[in-house]
Amino acid sequence: MEKYIQLAKELGMVNAKIISSKEICFDIRAILKCRWGCEDFLNQTIRCHPRDTTFQERVEMIKRYNHILLVHSNDARTLSEAVLEIEKAAFLDGYYFAFAIRFCNLCRACAVKEGKPCPTPEKVRPCDQSFGIDVYKTARNLGFPCEVLQCKESTQNRYGFVLID
Ligand code: SF4
Repeated sequence: MEKYIQLAKELGMVNAKIISSKEICFDIRAILKCRWGCEDFLNQTIRCHPRDTTFQERVEMIKRYNHILLVHSNDARTLSEAVLEIEKAAFLDGYYFAFAIRFCNLCRACAVKEGKPCPTPEKVRPCDQSFGIDVYKTARNLGFPCEVLQCKESTQNRYGFVLID
C-alpha cells in the first residue's frame, strides 16, 4: 500500500494515508446537505446522480474495503486527476475493485455546468457527500486539517478517497 502513498505525493498531493472503512465517518446529514444545500444536485446529474442506490447500499459498498487511500490536496482539480491515476494504478496491480470517491473537478470549466454533455462520463466518480461521508469528521479524526473556510482566498483542504481492496 505504501506505493500508493508515494504515488499520491508524486502527483503533487499534500499528503495521503491508508485507512480502513472503520475510520470513515458516515452521517446521513451529509446527504441532507447534498440534496438541498448544493446547487449541483438537480442541475448536473452526471456529477451527482445517486445511480439508483440507497444510502445504506452506498455505506455497505464502502464498508467492504479494508484498504482505502485518503488523499489530501489544496487543489480540487489536481485531486480529481490524482485519485483517478491512483485508482488506475491499483487496478493494474490486480485490485480489480479499486475505485475513487471524489466530486468531479476534472475540467477547468465543467461542460455539464454549461448545459453540454460531459466529454468523459466514464471518468466521473461519486461525490463523497452523496455517499454520506462526513469528510470534516473523518479528516479531523485522522489528524488532517479540515475547517470551514471563512473566505474564498483561504487555503482549501480538499479530500478524495481511493477504495483499493
Ligand atoms: S469530466 Fe469535466 S465535464 Fe465531465 S462532469 Fe467532470 S468536470 Fe464536468
